[in-house]
Amino acid sequence: MKSRYQVTASSHNPGLGNHMADDGTEAFEQAKALALNEQRKRTLNEIERALARMDADTYGYCERCGEAIDFARLKALPYATLCIRCQTFVEH
Ligand SMILES: [Zn+2]
Repeated sequence: MKSRYQVTASSHNPGLGNHMADDGTEAFEQAKALALNEQRKRTLNEIERALARMDADTYGYCERCGEAIDFARLKALPYATLCIRCQTFVEH
């Protein structure tokens, strides 16, 4: 992820802009687009994993403890891989 950003940053030539502010805005927009792209890729990856779990009949079960994931949680986050307890655990 870091190296990808470096490639983008080095391909950008700040000398071509007429104003410093334009360069700053453009760099910010680029960074924002990059972040959105990363988020989208991650979500897509999560969805593909969820579909694979459906094929394997393991969908809806926590990958960490094996317990069934709460239905309300799956409804809110269909590609959740962890039950709320394990999710809380790994986040802290
Ligand atoms: Zn769990």
